[in-house]
Amino acid sequence: MELERLLKSKLTYSAPEPQRRSANMPDYAAEYARSLQDPEGFWGEQARHFHWFRPFGKVLEWNFPDHQWFVGGQTNITYNALDRHARGSKRNQVALIFLGEDGSEQKLTYGELLDRVSRFATGLRGLGLEKGDRAVIYMPLTLEGCIAMLACARLGAIHSVVYAGLGITALRERIQDAGAKLVIAGDVGFRRGKTVDLKSIVLQATEGLELDIIWFCRGGPKPEGPKTHDFNEILWGHKPETEAVPVDSEHPLFILYTSGSTGKPKGVVHVQGGFMVGTAYHLRSFFDLKDGEVFWTTSDIGWVVGHSYIVYAPLLEGITSILREGAPDYPNPGAIWSAVERYRVNVMFTAPTAVRMFMKFGSDWPAQHDLSSLRLIGVAGEPLNPEAWQWATEHLMDSGKFGFVADNWWQTELGAPTLGTPVVLEGRPGLVGMPLAGVDAVVVDADGLEVAPGTGGLLALKRPFPSMMRTVWGNHARYQQYWNEIPGQVYAAGDVASRTPEGYFSVLGRADDVLNVAGHRIGTADVESALVSHPSVAEAAVIGVPDLLKGEAIKAFVVLRTGKEKTDALREEIIHHVRLELGPIATPSELILLDKLPKTRSGKILRRLLKAQEMGKDPGDLSTLEE
Ligand code: AMP
Repeated sequence: MELERLLKSKLTYSAPEPQRRSANMPDYAAEYARSLQDPEGFWGEQARHFHWFRPFGKVLEWNFPDHQWFVGGQTNITYNALDRHARGSKRNQVALIFLGEDGSEQKLTYGELLDRVSRFATGLRGLGLEKGDRAVIYMPLTLEGCIAMLACARLGAIHSVVYAGLGITALRERIQDAGAKLVIAGDVGFRRGKTVDLKSIVLQATEGLELDIIWFCRGGPKPEGPKTHDFNEILWGHKPETEAVPVDSEHPLFILYTSGSTGKPKGVVHVQGGFMVGTAYHLRSFFDLKDGEVFWTTSDIGWVVGHSYIVYAPLLEGITSILREGAPDYPNPGAIWSAVERYRVNVMFTAPTAVRMFMKFGSDWPAQHDLSSLRLIGVAGEPLNPEAWQWATEHLMDSGKFGFVADNWWQTELGAPTLGTPVVLEGRPGLVGMPLAGVDAVVVDADGLEVAPGTGGLLALKRPFPSMMRTVWGNHARYQQYWNEIPGQVYAAGDVASRTPEGYFSVLGRADDVLNVAGHRIGTADVESALVSHPSVAEAAVIGVPDLLKGEAIKAFVVLRTGKEKTDALREEIIHHVRLELGPIATPSELILLDKLPKTRSGKILRRLLKAQEMGKDPGDLSTLEE
């Protein structure tokens, strides 16, 4: 079996000696031990690197399942990410570099970024956005998207970024669930040399809602309307006079929606203090960034990885962060490598699906560029298959002579790397690594009992850490469910995992009805409800099927309403409908029209059977099958 093979494999890899010697976290074992023996001392020390308007008292208040960190302290994440540097020695250091597919480039120094964020915050305040209010951001990956996030945080307002690739229903649901007062939106995005229309999605998603909309227009004039505003007028029409508003460390910083196994997206809430301390700590200790270095996270501000490692942690740590709009293989599969060479990128953070894509294009593309600045590539989002790991080590890191591939596992809920292989540890292809500071991870059965090494079980965390979510927006019971799902007061990650006797973890995939498509979590229930919202569809079931590039692809089975004919045109129309409702990432790559779905006698759809059939496997016990 694949799992056994991985766990028994003796194949290991190490970072080059000089890199290990100069690591920011030279002794993983000691660091880890201390973080568990004295979590308050450990995290308190990390937190004291930052500016607090009012110092915190107790480091941790753990009242199962609620946890508060840096209690009584007041801070503002943007003071630490911007003012501290702009008013100090880093005023003229580049904070953010934006790259366009067309080769365009825009840079902002810490001084310039602070100026813009403060101006935009003044504009937002003028529109009535105050501490605690929610603003939804539906922006392409641009400097303006980052400015919008930071300006909200500066006021103590709560941003909720919705990936500008999600469709109408997904956007509307999130705006309504968050109770947003304001939407900051782009009219278009640019991808593969084409303009992607966002305007019509925003207009339909906000129809009939009482909201201000700030438009960042690159495709045409600003849409008209009584409560519409122009991004650049809000920015440049206001003075940079808004100071960072002191907020409690537990004050919400953002809501980020993620799919669950029920149709309703969950609004994961992260707070200013803990998110700041946790994400910045891992930028230094796990991603091993040093002062003056350049970091490139190839994600998007629409995902947690973008929140933590495009925007907040790099700025908190005063380094330079790159963002690039568009497709990584456009205008050619060497675009990324040419930029790594040009900007002398030191550390990259990407996803296995991207590595597999680069692999498909072949090693000639990276070989044309000097990638010697690159000494670490972090990968997360889905299991990193050993072939992709090997290819990246060989072709991006000169067979490991000058670099290291660092797998890491975490989730929207956790904010920062949780399991992983820091550069001082020995890497094991196919295994994600060890628990990082503050993380007490176990693999348990459904009764909460630890399973033996080498056996598959549920991944669970026994205690909280600062960058972990505090609640699910408007649904604290849903938050409590994470901690009550498995007996024994542990946080249920929802993943299937296993560990070796030495304590290396392997994370195999989701334990629930959630798919992982190109590193993005997609709930089967979300796709199924989008399918049945088409007028010709009676019932639908969705499963994940293995996909060489994306990890998993979505396959849908649909029963049409009586009288509807199974035609290719209708099939295409249904697929298009899902694309419009949820967005391209949640669109089925295959849709089969059936007369009936397999169901249990009690009427539950047996996805398990569809999946087994698809994979040519034994479906298991079918005694409850209807017929
Ligand atoms: P998200 O919240 O969208 O970031 O998705 C988190 C999920 O992605 C986890 O629950 C895992 O199923 C999966 N995941 C993330 N990182 C890894 C990794 N390094 N190895 C295996 N699975 C991962």
